[in-house]
Amino acid sequence: MFSTDTIVAPATPPGEGGVGIIRVSGPLSAQLLAETFVGCPTDRMRSHQLYHGQLRAADGSQVDEVLAVIMRTPHSYTGEDVVEVHCHGGPQIMRQALDLFLSKGGRLANPGEFTQRAFLNGRLDLSQAEAVINVIRARSAEACQVALGQLNGRLSQRVHRFANHTRTALALIEAHIDFPDDEVGSLDLTAVQREVAATVEDMTRLLDTFDTGRILRDGINLLILGRPNVGKSSLMNAMLGEARAIVTEIPGTTRDTLEESMVLGGFPIRLIDTAGVRDTDNLIEQEGVRRAKDKVGMADLVLLVLDASEPLKEEDRLAASLCAPEKTLLVLNKVDRPNILEDQPLEGFLRHVSVSAKLEQGLEALFEAVVTHFDRRVVAGDRREDVVLSERRHQEAVLRARHSLMRFLESAQHAAPLECLSIELREALAALGQITGETTPDDILEQIFSEFCVGK
Ligand code: GDP
Repeated sequence: MFSTDTIVAPATPPGEGGVGIIRVSGPLSAQLLAETFVGCPTDRMRSHQLYHGQLRAADGSQVDEVLAVIMRTPHSYTGEDVVEVHCHGGPQIMRQALDLFLSKGGRLANPGEFTQRAFLNGRLDLSQAEAVINVIRARSAEACQVALGQLNGRLSQRVHRFANHTRTALALIEAHIDFPDDEVGSLDLTAVQREVAATVEDMTRLLDTFDTGRILRDGINLLILGRPNVGKSSLMNAMLGEARAIVTEIPGTTRDTLEESMVLGGFPIRLIDTAGVRDTDNLIEQEGVRRAKDKVGMADLVLLVLDASEPLKEEDRLAASLCAPEKTLLVLNKVDRPNILEDQPLEGFLRHVSVSAKLEQGLEALFEAVVTHFDRRVVAGDRREDVVLSERRHQEAVLRARHSLMRFLESAQHAAPLECLSIELREALAALGQITGETTPDDILEQIFSEFCVGK
């Protein structure tokens, strides 16, 4: 999968902007710049320094007035010679500049190919490379911190620690397979078991951070559910109006729900309103129930809205029957009217907040209840942990590694042959290597980098 040609791509998003950057990486980078840039001969350009000049087409005509920089190997993002040309950020200029480099022998980069080269050249390990995309896509300050920690190698360090302990155990075991006891001394298997058990515990602590990590990365799916007219749309609008930090519209919004995003207590939130499906989402009909069930299944928390000014209806109970109480917060809406549900909102549901979506009252308490719901799961120390697991791929690898170590402990207890014990340790190492990329199969690598944008 490793190619050594010279790749070119815009590094800034399409559209108009103050500057637009073309990035070039590979052995021909400096030559491509020499053939197109007038301002300073490239062999006189110092690495990592910007030079002012003009970008010229083959016929000598000016393409743009630019700033250019060479970052020479190995001290560049990809580890290769990298050139960046800062053009004016207009689509036509960018197109022409890109075409110019392509006509001189550059190849248009594939998605993520710059980062892939950084990985293949050992500038980043795989978990750091994956963090790049999470930094770019982070939707809250906290999510950004987690991703930056991973980019700085904190997860890799932790994984290396697991691997080093496992390798030490493996070395001891294998020494005793290869040489009889009288040559290398007797094996203190209990001590090895103790070390491995400590690593298992350490892995468990890391695995416990996954819920938080996932939520910070992907956001919380907050579903607003309830029968027609309880005030779901009003509540959604009130929540969005109150929360100042409304982010952008979420891509991939389905046609049968309204989705908006906001940030609460550092958690990116995807607010999903089922009101948009009022016609088809009739809970009395089986299809409506099925659809509502699907949505509840995908939600991290359901806001089950009731009209507190009216007695409960059959449809309220039906909606409630679809919700797991531990994942549900009752919202008694319309409390600007006499609240007749306050004392006994709904059997089985312990937590409720009272609001008036219309008067925008009680929203702070609602937000606090939502954040507390997720923070409680975080209390185990996730946010205090210096490393947070946020990729399912990493979680699965640590789970596999831990499973192998646990099998090692069990086999050791039953005095299994040393060969069997060493197999378990080797499997744990292979699983850990997948996180940092040492043992990750090529097809998985391809898939990871294909999720990047072009130019990254
Ligand atoms: P949905 O069908 O659940 O989405 O409900 P809507 O948001 O469309 O609201 C239904 C009706 O209830 C509308 O007439 C709203 O003005 C009204 N409504 C919503 N929230 C409140 C509230 O807090 N107090 C009062 N008095 N009326 C409300």
